[in-house]
Amino acid sequence: APTKNAIFDVHDVHKSFAGLHALSEVNLKVGERTTHAIIGPNGAGKSTLLNVCVGRLAPDSGTVTFDGETLTGKKPYEINQAGVARVFQTPEIFSDLNLLENLLMPALSKRDGSFTFNAFRALNTQKDILQKAEHALEDVGLIEKRYEHAGSLSRGDKRRLELAMCLIQNPKLLLLDEPTAGMSRHDTNRTIDLLVRIKESGMTIIVIEHDMHVVFSLADHVSVLAQGKIIAAGTPSEVKGSAKVQEAYLGG
Ligand code: ADP
Ligand code: MG
Repeated sequence: APTKNAIFDVHDVHKSFAGLHALSEVNLKVGERTTHAIIGPNGAGKSTLLNVCVGRLAPDSGTVTFDGETLTGKKPYEINQAGVARVFQTPEIFSDLNLLENLLMPALSKRDGSFTFNAFRALNTQKDILQKAEHALEDVGLIEKRYEHAGSLSRGDKRRLELAMCLIQNPKLLLLDEPTAGMSRHDTNRTIDLLVRIKESGMTIIVIEHDMHVVFSLADHVSVLAQGKIIAAGTPSEVKGSAKVQEAYLGG
């Protein structure tokens, strides 16, 4: 069960935007080294939940804890330092920098939550970090493009670059907001393979995903969010068979 040895715990989270209940009474427990998918129709509150988890949004009430530490009230970089890395729905990469340089950014910013250009240049010359960056690019299949500008990458490759930017931090928990959105079937399958390998390395993953094929390939547990509430939870097959879930999708 996901409640056993939960490493990540969302407890009774509420979040409203000017009277709109984006999240109500949201509870979620994620077991260590498991993959938990969050699915639900557009506007259900999935991205809001992820933003609360990573400190981009403060909940109106409720708590988020990770590895025994309360994350609620912490700044995004503090949460990152606690071992939580995330990929947002819109890729956040440095378009004018090449792929290797993109990877050096998170490697440095992890140290104190900020970076200066001088420190960045000093880091650029450190061999071990360059090697780490190259390994991360190898892991995601982008090593041959290491000197290309990130802005020139395809959408699928940008997502892979973002994943590499997470992996170089060696996080304990990885949060992904629709990692295959807008990808071709081929790129989706490559991303599934990559995420399965990341999962098998022992990382705990929370993934927001529309594509049921991705959910079935990857997730141990699924929570279904609709109109800000968790309406169902269970294994992928349990959730797929739920009448409530089918109704939420059709009615959403
Ligand atoms: P999902 O990711 O499931 O599609 P979101 O979490 O993005 O859903 O949005 C949930 C609801 O909250 C939507 O109705 C959306 O319009 C609203 N919402 C999200 N962010 C904001 C915001 N910053 N200000 C006002 N409303 C927002
Ligand atoms: Mg979203």
